[in-house]
This record gives sequence, C-alpha cells and structure tokens, in this order.
Amino acid sequence: MQLKYIIDLDGTIYHQTKPIPYADKFISYLQTKRRDFVFFTNSPERSPEEISDKLKKFNIKVSPEKIVTAACVTKDYLLNHSRTARIFVIGTEQFKKSLSEAGFDIICDDSKNADFVICGFSQQTDFSEVKTACKHIWNGAELICTNSDESIPDEKGFMPHTGAINASLEYATGKKAIMLGKPGAYSFNYIQKKLHARKDEICVVGDRIDTDMSFGKNNGANAFLVYTGITSENESKMPKYIGTFDKGFKNLDELIKFDMKITKEKPMLSLELQFLGE
Ligand SMILES: [Mg+2]
Repeated sequence: MQLKYIIDLDGTIYHQTKPIPYADKFISYLQTKRRDFVFFTNSPERSPEEISDKLKKFNIKVSPEKIVTAACVTKDYLLNHSRTARIFVIGTEQFKKSLSEAGFDIICDDSKNADFVICGFSQQTDFSEVKTACKHIWNGAELICTNSDESIPDEKGFMPHTGAINASLEYATGKKAIMLGKPGAYSFNYIQKKLHARKDEICVVGDRIDTDMSFGKNNGANAFLVYTGITSENESKMPKYIGTFDKGFKNLDELIKFDMKITKEKPMLSLELQFLGE
C-alpha cells in the first residue's frame, strides 16, 4: 500500500524558526519515490508562497501548490457559497488581499453591512476589530472561522489564537461559527480532491491529537502522531487518548522506515498496524 500524506507543519516539520530533525529527509524520501503529499496548516497567517520560502531555508523545496492553509480552505468555501459577498475579515493584510483578488468586497468598518465575518488571525488583531465584527454579526452577517486553535507558542510561552478570538465573537453574539480548518470535514474534502485519493489511502501526520489526529480519524483516513511537537509519547499513552490515533512515531525517520516496510510488503495497513503494535 502507498499512503498519500497530509503533513502538519508547526511541531511536525519545524518549530517556529527551527527545522525538526529528519523533516527534510522525510520530504526528500517522498519526492524521490514520487509520492503524493500536501502540507496543511491550520494557521491562516502566512500564504503558501511565504511558507514555501520558509521551507527552502530548511532544505525542503516544495511549490506553493503543495501547501494548504486554513485561509486557502476559507477562500474555497466562500467561492462555493457566494462569489459577490461583502466581507469583514479579522486576519492578515495578505489574507484580505487574496480574498479581494478573488472578487470579494472587503470592508474595514461597519459603515456598510457585511454578508460574512471571517475570523482569522494576525499578530496585529486588536479589540476594535472584535467590536466591529460583533456589530456585523448582530446585523445579520454569517460567522466563519478559519480554525479553532485556542493558542500558539510565541517567544515568551503562548498567545491566544484564532479559536480564542472566535470564542469571544460567539460568546458576545450567541452565533455559532462555521469552522473550516482541522479537524473539520470541509478541509479534508478539499485536500482529498487535491490528492486524488481514497480516504483510506490518506494518512494525516501531525503533533496534535485534538486537531491533526481527529482530522484523520473523523474523516476516515489514517492518523499518525509524531512526538516532536505538543504531544509527548507519555501523554499519548493516557487512557483518554486510546483509539484517538493509529500509530505514534518518535520522529519522521521512524515514519520513513515504517512507510518503506508497508510499501514494499504491500500488506493491509490495519493488519500491519496490529502486527507492529504488538
Ligand atoms: Mg502542529
């Protein structure tokens, strides 16, 4: 069996500005074997082009087409629902620009009513944007959230992320957001089309159980956890996490060896997992 991979970035390929050991080796292995893969990050902050440039510094050369962000999925959702919508966006200037270039009317204040409020993330997000977003929702705008992550690491520990901003919008207005990033089905279907794969041929690789592993398991794909990010091997063995992922790996080098084994021997994956789990 040849798995097609959906690979998380932060905690799996890099930690902010530092590459994670064996990340370049894993991608090089997939490229050499002409295997399909897509990077998928829940963060809507950087564009695929910016991420592609960042990866080059870590000796990973991939085109922007192989990189999907929660912002890309949000743009696709909007294009499928209303091509002429007026939108208020909490997010980066780059994200607003990409939506504007797709034909949407991006508004910056509450002088006109919005059809949609998009809750994304930028380092510059401030309370005035939260207030304006709430006004639009009270006036009838639909609320869409790019991703549900509650926090992200920064230089001094953690900072609130998109999910936290969205929670304040939901709490204030009583309106529930349409959630588009991991672990939702919309983003899975979007990537599945890109990979031209059956669900059982797809394997999600990531460091978070609540987003990455749920993304795989909830959508009928394989879910492989790497212990290089937020979830330690010990934590993954806690009773509450039993059955939440298919297999854990200390690093991506272990995953290369596992992939070589199942590709060569062509067993049923579930049987192979049972065998290796003994
Ligand atoms: Mg991660």
